Amino acid sequence: MKLVKRADWGARAPKVPLSYLASARGVKVHYTGEYEDPAILGNHGRCAGRIRAIQNDHMDGRGWNDIAYNFLVCDHAYVFEGRGLHHLCAANGPGLNTGHFAVCGLVGNKGETQPPADMLDGIRDAIEYLRSHGGAGNEIKGHRDGYATDCPGDPLYAWVRQGAPRPPHIQEDDMPYGQLAEGPKAITPISLPKGRFKSIGFICDNGLQGLPPAQLRVGVFHGAGNWQVAQVTVDSTKDLAAVVFTDPGNTTGISVQRSDNGDVHVAWEVS
Ligand SMILES: [Zn+2]
Ligand SMILES: [Zn+2]
Repeated sequence: MKLVKRADWGARAPKVPLSYLASARGVKVHYTGEYEDPAILGNHGRCAGRIRAIQNDHMDGRGWNDIAYNFLVCDHAYVFEGRGLHHLCAANGPGLNTGHFAVCGLVGNKGETQPPADMLDGIRDAIEYLRSHGGAGNEIKGHRDGYATDCPGDPLYAWVRQGAPRPPHIQEDDMPYGQLAEGPKAITPISLPKGRFKSIGFICDNGLQGLPPAQLRVGVFHGAGNWQVAQVTVDSTKDLAAVVFTDPGNTTGISVQRSDNGDVHVAWEVS
């Protein structure tokens, strides 16, 4: 777990000592419910400042004793210590804070609304840390369970309902690949480990079947809403068609879509 202690993100001290909580039934997951800047996805250097801003808002804007959550998790799987282990949170609603500790993922209801895989990993880390060292029981709930709120947003809540599983990990020697569905359906977005790939190749078997080449629309995502889009023709009578990433260090995802109504499968692979 990539734990960031309070002193390391520049936390203010609580106004009065935090209340001890020996144990709870489990953990409730939250989101910020505000605008989260998608540009932060590619810039972990901004995350501590975002945590400090949330603490300032909770202490000065809302008059609370400290940042409301026990832990907060950024896009990059870092777990920031809020109230930390064995402390009563202030996030779940009146009367609900002794039942569950609180972990907040830094996604909102505008801007960045989809938690990346690394964030899910970090939230899972925080939950397991609260269980092993903080007296948390096995329940995993969302803020909206038992309280009238949209929190933690639909994507995080759907994940919570599945039991907050750890997302799949791509091994170093296990290059992502896949097949497009028949017809003009997208199979994406596909998220990629940042900066590891230089090209995406495509091949189809339509030549074997006497069918025309297939048209693909490929988008490469560089963060902050910055897409590079290319049209690719795949034709199995010719060499592998490939899209070369112009900025591999900042590539975090691709989107592949058929732009015709072809009826054969097209395979893709990144390298
Ligand atoms: Zn919440
Ligand atoms: Zn971060």
